[in-house]
Amino acid sequence: MTIDAKRLSIGELAAQVSGRVIAPGDAEYDDARTVMYGGFDRRPAVIVRAADARDVAAVIALARQTGLELAVRSGGHSGAGHSTTDGGIVLDLRDLKSLEIDIAARTAWAETGLTADEFTSAVNRHGMATGFGDTGSVGIGGLTLGGGVGFLVRKHGLTIDSLLAADIVTADGRLLRVDASTHPDLFWAIRGGGGNFGVVTRLQFRLHPVDRVVGGMLLLPATAETVAGFVAEAELAPQDLTTIANVMNCPPMPFVPPELHGSLVIMALVCYAGDVDAGQRALAPFRSLATPIADLVQEVSYPEIFPPEDPDYHPTAVSRTMFVDSIDEGAARAIVDRLEASDASLRVAQIRVLGGAMARVPADATAFAHRSSRIMVNIAAFYDGPEDRTIKDAWVAGLVGDLHQEDHGAYVNFLADEGADQVRAAYPGRTWDRLAAVKRRYDPTNLFRLNQNVPPAAADPA
Ligand SMILES: Cc1cc2nc3c(=O)[nH]c(=O)nc-3n(C[C@H](O)[C@H](O)[C@H](O)COP(=O)(O)OP(=O)(O)OC[C@H]3O[C@@H](n4cnc5c(N)ncnc54)[C@H](O)[C@@H]3O)c2cc1C
Repeated sequence: MTIDAKRLSIGELAAQVSGRVIAPGDAEYDDARTVMYGGFDRRPAVIVRAADARDVAAVIALARQTGLELAVRSGGHSGAGHSTTDGGIVLDLRDLKSLEIDIAARTAWAETGLTADEFTSAVNRHGMATGFGDTGSVGIGGLTLGGGVGFLVRKHGLTIDSLLAADIVTADGRLLRVDASTHPDLFWAIRGGGGNFGVVTRLQFRLHPVDRVVGGMLLLPATAETVAGFVAEAELAPQDLTTIANVMNCPPMPFVPPELHGSLVIMALVCYAGDVDAGQRALAPFRSLATPIADLVQEVSYPEIFPPEDPDYHPTAVSRTMFVDSIDEGAARAIVDRLEASDASLRVAQIRVLGGAMARVPADATAFAHRSSRIMVNIAAFYDGPEDRTIKDAWVAGLVGDLHQEDHGAYVNFLADEGADQVRAAYPGRTWDRLAAVKRRYDPTNLFRLNQNVPPAAADPA
């Protein structure tokens, strides 16, 4: 298909869709082309803020006709810059925010323009939750389609483990309802396979009775001993407890004594979804690893678990995602030493001990296949300009090399633009072949290619 931007008539497009059509020169263009991460200063030919599934189908048709690159955006948090494009079309779903909660059935249909925080706050009014990630502003669209690892992962599994059905517009413009019995191949593929198969407009989730939790930030000094100790305790902890340990240089937070700003800390975000007293008991071993620098862990309503955010924050960062089997004192020392040696304004090794409900789902039940992976590590460093980017990239690669063990998988939602091998690592074993076959069935021309791409299989085995 050849790219022919001249065939893109903004006027004709605006007449076809109900949502806003934003083009270069419009007052809102610069705001509308901005994504969460800095470093993606791209200029789309047009941005369509879809108002409904019909708009979505119209934009997909336009991408098909013009051959222009199509960027699909829910929350705009892609670390690979996949929700923006130079010269292509951005299909922005952020105005799709309807939410239908069925308390009796403990389910909710959510449009994919909702953020994790918006969904979580709304269902919390009924004492319910579905687990998303650690950050409220992330879109439920991108997060869910990649898997979803958050504060309830050990208690209730990945986000996709609570996904019951979805509405999706495919490359040929059809709006399909998919679930375990209708288009089960597509339903399997969108639970981990990302944006490869169509544009999802609505997601139906199971709601869990999670209202108040014991959670928040526990800030400990980071040494090889405390980091390894933290991981050991997190593995031993009851599955009601999920921890996210950010080993990093301490930001200048107001409740931290100034002399500790910049020192290495474990900034742990914890969530115990169960009885409050049992939660305090479960957290005691973490609190006794060292005298906490700050202990903000308390009983809170579940949405309060999301840290506050600044919408104007657009950092430039390099990162790598990996799974490891263990973090003993040797591995913890490598983390601490590498973090000490870097001058990045922010550098972090984020450690998430997995297991629990997530691990009880068979590896082939969804396109997220890393069910037996024990620990997910995400290593990131902020950079300042292209030369510094190379330096910070090498630093990240160095720590990845230090930590590499038997598990060579990658989590698709944390992949940056890292090339085909890393996308392959996200889909081990038969998962890749199954995804490629589903891709061939629903998107044979690879219209949805601006993503962690699974190209269509050469021949459909079916
Ligand atoms: C600060 C931060 C914290 C994060 N924390 C976590 C975490 O705790 N757990 C976790 O699992 N992940 C986490 N992530 C990763 C996050 O899940 C992914 O970046 C995800 O893709 C973001 O979704 P989005 O809708 O905000 O992004 P977008 O940039 O809008 O979308 C990313 C990609 O997903 C696809 N996509 C999005 N919406 C749709 C749709 N409706 N239909 C079809 N395809 C779609 C497209 O290919 C798009 O390019 C975090 C990311 C950031 C930046």
